[in-house]
Amino acid sequence: MTGNMDGSWRIFRALGIDVYVHWSWFIALMIFFQLFGGDNPLMFLFLFGTLFGVVVLHEYGHALACRSVGGRVGHIVLWPLGGIAFVQPPPRPSALLWTIAAGPLVNLALIPAGIVALLAAGTVGASDAVLTYLNWFIYINGLLFVFNMMPAYPLDGGQILQAILWYFMPRGRAIYISSAIGLVFGGVMVAFGLMGHTNPEIGRALPITPLWMAILGAFITWEAYKTLQVSRGST
Ligand SMILES: [Zn+2]
Repeated sequence: MTGNMDGSWRIFRALGIDVYVHWSWFIALMIFFQLFGGDNPLMFLFLFGTLFGVVVLHEYGHALACRSVGGRVGHIVLWPLGGIAFVQPPPRPSALLWTIAAGPLVNLALIPAGIVALLAAGTVGASDAVLTYLNWFIYINGLLFVFNMMPAYPLDGGQILQAILWYFMPRGRAIYISSAIGLVFGGVMVAFGLMGHTNPEIGRALPITPLWMAILGAFITWEAYKTLQVSRGST
């Protein structure tokens, strides 16, 4: 790790893009280890490392797609709520659409790759640990794909919706609509997260830890709210 930028450390550089990790990511690692690492610490670390790698690949999807349409590409930062690729595609709908869609497409492509690996592992009689790991690998990519494709700004799906709407209306209006959906979606996530936290039956039905869902929902609500305020002036 070298360099320090707003509490982030650069861990490597590949294809001309620097990848940073924010300090809070390590706090999240420790908290999650306390919660879930007890039963099988090695598997936990493997899965957390895999999540890290998969999120980095997702962000590289955004960055390389942006570069391919002639946009500006900055660095990638990982923090507890995911990754951020600082990209600036040229101001036209098709460039934004491709830049944003390329991230979730990486996860979508990794699902069949995981299924093929799982089938191959089953055929050669790999250990239960390997099969469990590969099942998690498929689950992680499936979850990241579905979650990111929700049409709620600031999620990728919300930005994809924004790009599609932009073909038919001024950009300010497209941003307004996608961030309004984001505001509602984030609020629903907070509500389900809190319900799941107090009611274990609902909690078990949620795809992620209830409290984590509430925190993510609060973040989405906040980002959508900020963007909604800005876009109001331009519609
Ligand atoms: Zn993304």
